[in-house]
Amino acid sequence: MNPLSQLPSVDRLLCAPELAALVDAHGHAVVTAAIRDLLAAVRTAVREGAALPADAALVARVGAAVTAQMQPRLRPVFNLTGTVLHTNLGRAPLPEEAVQALIAAARSPCALEYDLETGGRGDRDHVVDDLLCELTGAEAATVVNNNAAAVFLLLNTLAQKKQVIVSRGELIEIGGAFRVPDIMSRAGAKLVEVGTTNRTHLKDFAEAITPRSALLMKVHASNYAIHGFTHAVAESELAELAHRHQLPFVIDLGSGTLTDLAAYGLPHEPTAAEAIAAGADLVTFSGDKLLGGPQAGLLVGRKDLIAKIKKNPLKRALRVGKLTLAALEAVLALYRDPDRLHLRVTAVRQLTRPQADIAAQAARLLPVLQAALAALPVTVDVVALMSQIGSGSLPVERLPSSGFAIRPQGRKGGVLKRIEQGLRALAKPVIGRIGDGALLLDLRCLAAGEENEFGAALAGLPAALRRTAV
Ligand SMILES: *Cc1c(COP(=O)(O)O)cnc(C)c1O
Repeated sequence: MNPLSQLPSVDRLLCAPELAALVDAHGHAVVTAAIRDLLAAVRTAVREGAALPADAALVARVGAAVTAQMQPRLRPVFNLTGTVLHTNLGRAPLPEEAVQALIAAARSPCALEYDLETGGRGDRDHVVDDLLCELTGAEAATVVNNNAAAVFLLLNTLAQKKQVIVSRGELIEIGGAFRVPDIMSRAGAKLVEVGTTNRTHLKDFAEAITPRSALLMKVHASNYAIHGFTHAVAESELAELAHRHQLPFVIDLGSGTLTDLAAYGLPHEPTAAEAIAAGADLVTFSGDKLLGGPQAGLLVGRKDLIAKIKKNPLKRALRVGKLTLAALEAVLALYRDPDRLHLRVTAVRQLTRPQADIAAQAARLLPVLQAALAALPVTVDVVALMSQIGSGSLPVERLPSSGFAIRPQGRKGGVLKRIEQGLRALAKPVIGRIGDGALLLDLRCLAAGEENEFGAALAGLPAALRRTAV
């Protein structure tokens, strides 16, 4: 007899009581499709000689397939990598004030381009431009999708078919294919490189200025540092030179920040206000790096230049949505109170967290992690670690931190890969890093309020390790 004739029908499996909750949650179509896929796979396997699985096993496989399929792809994770502004993990986490503003804007209509005083049409930039001007000392401001878009729009508006003079030491590549020379040519501008990799002088810029020059540009070398025999031209000198030739001087600050982080014990990172004060006509920076807000590109500077940029039809293609503006407005508002900034802006709070505080947390959580890994041939210790800021900000600075080192007993390094995999398979995955022959979990980004959630996640680790082992 053909064993395939014993295979249950789609309808019979669909009626299994074990699948009722899944049908209820995700609908008939999804579960039916999963059953069809499974039955097709089983038919092939049986034709190739495999035994016919029991109905109960089929039902369990459908359940697992639907559950896996319907899990959101964009899942929250615990960032224990030690890199605070981790681009692959979504950069800055938003402060609660911004999360609430974003939810409110998402849920109901909002005055996005509507003037509540006159009842007339408004401009979406007005949601944040006063705040940006107040915080940077600029005359005008606008917002686009990210800083790459801001730089592109600036160049396309002010330098199309013209020359842009940049130091050779600043022709940078940011991860993810943002290269200054490429953006420049896509924007239609002609790059004029001056100076050398390590030294550029004011006269290099002065000699490169021609009637075809559109602007002088400075790019903050965010993700690397040059040491030794170096020279860069001060912003104020470049501004003065540009203005003598009636050219704008623009700065891509990269991360940029709105406050002097040195006041919170962090290394100094140039602020947008300093760039404006030094004479920059336009400054661009990211919303989700050190600023601690949503993904956005902020442009601040001279009113006439911002007006020109806003008239470029590409501004429409690069504009931000209401969710971004709602979150950005809330984060910018927090910057009006510098005294509590390090408590309220999540990214700044994580960056300024004292090592002793992180070490105390590690000591509290050590028994929980040890219990979760008790069955494996590893040792778990609390160790001092060094966190990175990330997103190319302050690339050589490290922040003293604390966390766990999981080391294999004996020489079997494979166990670490297994644990990493198990941690990634948790309902809320835990992402660490491998270093020094250990799996390191840096606790800098684990808030005190998340400790219980983290403990509960770890309790699921033995089961996750069993799941991922098969
Ligand atoms: C990060 C960075 C960019 C790109 O910013 P996004 O907001 O990621 O688009 C551009 N320029 C510099 C100097 C940067 O550091």
